[in-house]
Amino acid sequence: MRLVLTHIARLLMVEYESRELVAGADMEKMHVRENAWLTIEDGLITGFGEGEVALLMDDEVLDCSGGMVIPAFCDSHTHLVYAGSREKEYEDKIRGLSYEEIAARGGGILNSAALLSSISEQQLFEQSLPRALEIIQSGTGAVEIKSGYGLNTKDEVKMLRVIRRLGEETPLAVRSTFLGAHAFPAAYRPDPDRYVKLVVEDMIPAVASEKLADYIDVFCDRGFFTVEQTRTILEAGAKYGLVPKIHANELDFSGGVQVGVANGARSVDHLEFVAEEEIGVLKKSRTMPTLLPGASLFLGMRYAPARKMIDAGLPVALASDYNPGSSPSGNMELVMSLGIMQLRMLPYEVLNAVTLNGAYAMGLEKTHGSVAVGKTASLIITKPMPSFGFMPYAYGSSQIDRIILNGKIVQDV
Ligand SMILES: [Zn+2]
Repeated sequence: MRLVLTHIARLLMVEYESRELVAGADMEKMHVRENAWLTIEDGLITGFGEGEVALLMDDEVLDCSGGMVIPAFCDSHTHLVYAGSREKEYEDKIRGLSYEEIAARGGGILNSAALLSSISEQQLFEQSLPRALEIIQSGTGAVEIKSGYGLNTKDEVKMLRVIRRLGEETPLAVRSTFLGAHAFPAAYRPDPDRYVKLVVEDMIPAVASEKLADYIDVFCDRGFFTVEQTRTILEAGAKYGLVPKIHANELDFSGGVQVGVANGARSVDHLEFVAEEEIGVLKKSRTMPTLLPGASLFLGMRYAPARKMIDAGLPVALASDYNPGSSPSGNMELVMSLGIMQLRMLPYEVLNAVTLNGAYAMGLEKTHGSVAVGKTASLIITKPMPSFGFMPYAYGSSQIDRIILNGKIVQDV
């Protein structure tokens, strides 16, 4: 049976010829169909056009009542599988406690790891599932989720199994990333290379033997993993077919962009510290620069130079970084608003960044991120809006009316 969407005021992100990504000046451009309809069969988009559609006897019709239709969000960078929460730590920060004092009171990545270690795989799934369901209700259709709160082989595998199960038991398209190199456990601080050895010799083979990850990530930054350590880990991952997607240049000019690109990274993420050299390296690559403005907002830190990057001809993806320490929100409408408010991106640039470019950043650009015949029917129907720019402009108030994932209407939006 067909599902037919009618009375769509504007159908956005339309593609007649598929593209991998959108870069530079093209990010401001958009193919739009006015007063449109769209048909869905077997979970896929099968047609769309303007004006009236010829309905068949057994069509199921969904009247969009003058709302707009955009692809569901593609959130290419999250850590939404975790144990507990860290709002107390944020209070401590407000009170002016130092990082060390906060860590002593139970904050930081290492404490997330201790908490995660203390619960079972089933309990971790039960804690993480509501967050996956929450992002579905917020319009996300495809998501990348990282490990990295295990920091030992057993708990990293536990996290990745939970990530796989979220993909099996929810309508989300899930890509998983092994991030054993997220932080150094305290016991390895005197000899960090010993931890790199554990990641390379024990964790990566264990993760690969269960085929638990699509990507491999390293936190390559000042005070975390060095360029040399990052290279060692990425090269070890490559032997098992794990493609890099790395944390780079959040805290400093870390060399993360260069080592990521040199190792064929699908994306380099954060990029608060980016100058001409990094832009030049990215321009010669197929790596998606991915920005995480939610983390800058929550931590009160600098924003990535998105305007400069797009004006230089680069593509940009935006993602939520949903995690308990630096961005406890998976709300992509808010990410879009930060795109216009803090990154000085234009509304259509933001829409390209949270859909097709996000899909590319997790290798899903052939199936997700735009409105094209044959692509997965994962779509957002908005409330009636005066223009698309109203969606990011009206920050804090959702413009989502209905959500369709894999051709099925999501209930209870
Ligand atoms: Zn992150």
